[in-house]
Amino acid sequence: MKVSVDRSLCYGSAECAYRAPDVFAFEDGYGTVRPGRTEVGDAPEVREAAERCPSQAITLQEGA
Ligand code: SF4
Repeated sequence: MKVSVDRSLCYGSAECAYRAPDVFAFEDGYGTVRPGRTEVGDAPEVREAAERCPSQAITLQEGA
């Protein structure tokens, strides 16, 4: 699956970077997907980060 962060929704809690630091970084007050890490396979920690993002800014694209 592919992961992306909608910066316009993110309010900078940094929880994604805490839960899945290999995939998410926290930069300039926003969560971002690290360069080259948009394809994450079936990574449970990424799924959890998306589910728990308080602003629902993380999108998972299944089967992509
Ligand atoms: S968990 Fe959500 S709101 Fe928090 S930094 Fe990550 S994308 Fe932004």
